[in-house]
Amino acid sequence: MTDWRIDNAKHTKGATLCFKKYVRWSDTWDHDHCVACWAKFMESGADVLTEGYATEDSYHWICSDCLRDLKDEMGWTLASGSK
Ligand SMILES: [Zn+2]
Repeated sequence: MTDWRIDNAKHTKGATLCFKKYVRWSDTWDHDHCVACWAKFMESGADVLTEGYATEDSYHWICSDCLRDLKDEMGWTLASGSK
């Protein structure tokens, strides 16, 4: 457990998250990063995450490792239908 991830992710505290495939935000924005550990999300590619936990507007993304480790600390809740 590392505190730097909590600090990175603090703006998402209390967010409701949905597990989904990563979808690019716009034509000019082809990737995102986990808000906590900065792991890279892309629609496809080597060494990237292609699915994860997103806020309901799909603007902030969180990887499954950070979800597991930080969920309680961050007060994240999963939207119904997500695992
Ligand atoms: Zn992460």
